[in-house]
Amino acid sequence: MQNYYKVEWSNDKCQNPIDCSRCLRVCPQAVFALYAPNREEEIIPTEYVISPAMQMFCNGCNACIEACPNDALKVYPKEQAT
Ligand code: SF4
Ligand code: SF4
Repeated sequence: MQNYYKVEWSNDKCQNPIDCSRCLRVCPQAVFALYAPNREEEIIPTEYVISPAMQMFCNGCNACIEACPNDALKVYPKEQAT
């Protein structure tokens, strides 16, 4: 699939993603991934981040932007991305 959109997100604005996860749940293209960045073997992770890991599948519907309570997301047509 060709990528026409760029999804930007702010880790500073995204608060408590494991409880929020609204972007992940509303996205029809399953763009977002929730993961533990500091994973260690045999240690249960306590910190999580969410990111548009599969943004090549974004269709520009803006559902994630409307769902985000913290204004942490932006979606640009690719030719307008900076
Ligand atoms: S704009 Fe739509 S398809 Fe793209 S990441 Fe947001 S919810 Fe998913
Ligand atoms: S909807 Fe916004 S605040 Fe909630 S997990 Fe997604 S980016 Fe973070």
